[in-house]
Amino acid sequence: MNSPVTSIKLVLLGEAAVGKSSIVLRFVSNDFSENKEPTIGAAFLTQRVNMGDHTIKFEIWDTAGQERFASLAPMYYRNAQAALVVYDVTKPQSFIKARHWVKELHEQASKDIVIALVGNKLDMIEAGAERKVAREEAENLAQEENLLFFETSAKTGDNVNEVFLGIGQKIPLKT
Ligand code: GDP
Repeated sequence: MNSPVTSIKLVLLGEAAVGKSSIVLRFVSNDFSENKEPTIGAAFLTQRVNMGDHTIKFEIWDTAGQERFASLAPMYYRNAQAALVVYDVTKPQSFIKARHWVKELHEQASKDIVIALVGNKLDMIEAGAERKVAREEAENLAQEENLLFFETSAKTGDNVNEVFLGIGQKIPLKT
């Protein structure tokens, strides 16, 4: 018998170049590219994940983070059940931007949206780059705003699947 399928519309938000498309590429194709072409507008991809006797179908909207497209964002997150708000652990400005996105989602998205705060490019710190966003600072934001929180590397794949599994566990499944 086929397991029940729950579709989850998920959007990605965050400053340009923090690694949103790379996180999706890692999750969907288990792949990584050093010189990815920037996303223009939005890209749509799906990925199925088996969770026990359920299947979750992630319908992923990867929006461009550039400010000139910010006005389009509400169109993407309006009906979303889940959002990844991504920043770069080596770029403080991207964390400030992430705070703005969290605020905007809480004000304007569905009230039961599941949000994961994702600090990406963890591998750069492991390779010797200076960390510019303290883990504790991000954990505090996550606690205050009721977010899931992960630090990831799309490059190595570290913790990427866990983000999506974590979201899947928080969303009520069809029975
Ligand atoms: P987006 O604009 O947020 O979608 O960012 P991209 O996915 O296009 O990534 C921007 C750049 O950062 C690209 O050159 C990627 O190869 C690089 N990148 C993305 N994720 C990581 C990561 O986890 N580690 C490292 N070292 N580079 C990354």
